Amino acid sequence: MDAPLSPGLYIVATPIGNLGDITLRAITTLRGVAAVACEDTRVTGKLLHHLEIKQRLIRYDDHASEATRDHILAMAAEQPVALVSDAGTPLISDPGFKLVRAARERGVAVFSLPGPSAAIMALTLAGLPSDRFLFAGFLPNKDKARRDVLRELGAVNATLVFYETSPRLTDALTAIGEELAGREVAVARELTKRFEECRTGSPAELITHYSASPPRGEIVLVIAPPGDAPAVEHDVDALLRAALATDKASQAVAAVAKATGLDRKVLYTRAMELK
Ligand code: SAM
Repeated sequence: MDAPLSPGLYIVATPIGNLGDITLRAITTLRGVAAVACEDTRVTGKLLHHLEIKQRLIRYDDHASEATRDHILAMAAEQPVALVSDAGTPLISDPGFKLVRAARERGVAVFSLPGPSAAIMALTLAGLPSDRFLFAGFLPNKDKARRDVLRELGAVNATLVFYETSPRLTDALTAIGEELAGREVAVARELTKRFEECRTGSPAELITHYSASPPRGEIVLVIAPPGDAPAVEHDVDALLRAALATDKASQAVAAVAKATGLDRKVLYTRAMELK
């Protein structure tokens, strides 16, 4: 039997793909609260079903009425209530800000249970400076607005992190290439899922790749800071030679493709030339 939870609003991060990425504390909290406020009851219902947890679900997003917010906070003043989003950490390009703000104004306790967030995971994979970063949510959909944001944030001395969708990827890369010329970009896609990849290169290289193989799924873009971060030049020959010394060509190419994000066919041709 888990210890009872004190009253309050519990912000609970949930998996962004791999259902194994949920903390023990998240599970006991989702089991122990009086209700779970969520964006989409079907999505959260599936997660809870997987965890074998039966819970009362209340639909909530930041467009919800004051009455819904009042109802959730009145409950949270007396009992533990969780807030989850469809995936990842609530409030990070997801609902929750208005609810947390109102909870604090009313003196309702707020607890946050850390866990997965695509932005942080992408930053840890990209191999770009992680000491200073600026997360700016989704890049705008319209070209002018997108370029305005890139110009504004491009001047900030930090790695930039944006959420993006696959149909808009090449438009976003085109704008990045033109507005933030010379900066390396990482496309982190389908994180924690079967087809996870993190491909780095110049916007032009990435556009060539994704025009030939249109991307699917969810994407985080990570952009190198200005100034001293020219697009990474991998010493491909050295990497291939080292891998070919111990592995068969196909394994060597696979290893170098994974390490550099470069195209396997191109690497294979080069490996044959080096042999
Ligand atoms: N709150 C979530 C979090 O903490 O990651 C983000 C929610 S936001 C509505 C959804 C966006 O996050 C997607 O369009 C994508 O840009 C990014 N995202 C979420 N899951 C992802 C994944 N598994 N791989 C790559 N990007 C992901």
